[in-house]
Amino acid sequence: AAQGARLATIVALMAETAVADADFLGRLDSIAGDGDHGQGMVLGSRAAAKAAAVASDAGAGAATVLKQAGLAWAEGAGGTSGALWGRALEAVGAGLSDDAAADAATVIAAVAAGAESVAASGGAVPGDKTMVDATTPFAVALRDAGDDLPGAFATAARAATDGAEATKDLVARKGRATTHGDASLGHPDPGAISFARHMTRIAEYLA
Ligand code: ADP
Ligand code: MG
Ligand code: MG
Repeated sequence: AAQGARLATIVALMAETAVADADFLGRLDSIAGDGDHGQGMVLGSRAAAKAAAVASDAGAGAATVLKQAGLAWAEGAGGTSGALWGRALEAVGAGLSDDAAADAATVIAAVAAGAESVAASGGAVPGDKTMVDATTPFAVALRDAGDDLPGAFATAARAATDGAEATKDLVARKGRATTHGDASLGHPDPGAISFARHMTRIAEYLA
């Protein structure tokens, strides 16, 4: 249950990050999308934080806290990225247990599996100008970075940031942005940027 409470704290931190980034992400999503990515991230992460707190207060462990958070995120956010974030949180939870506190290697494998679930659920590959341009390098770096959780998270968050920033040179091949031609050239993908910012914030928290 202590790990459940720690994860509820991290999901609450994600809601804070989403609120701080909302206007910036909304503007980025309006370049070649519908402008709602900031709002979707706020609605999803706030619903997730509330559900995680309720589960944790009731004594739930890590697996249940993240499962409840993921279900609430997808439902609260609406939109493409909300469904992907919700499933990703559920996938992290599926790699953890409610009883035993997971060691660093288990947490790393669970978080990497969560990031990998985004490509599996959304059907995008790196280069399509989506979240996957951040989640895939993040997962690869996390699995390669060794068993020191704060260090591995920091390395993986940098890989996510580099991947997200490199999307500015791409034209979207998946998602709503495909209907805007090459309008997004020169601007990074909002979903990739928000993923990288969340991972950076969590890395700072773990350090
Ligand atoms: P919507 O496009 O439904 O308005 P959001 O604005 O919240 O949803 O999210 C847009 C982001 O979703 C994009 O910037 C992109 O990163 C991500 N996205 C869209 N389609 C996919 C997909 N098939 N796989 C992975 N990510 C995707
Ligand atoms: Mg949008
Ligand atoms: Mg939308």
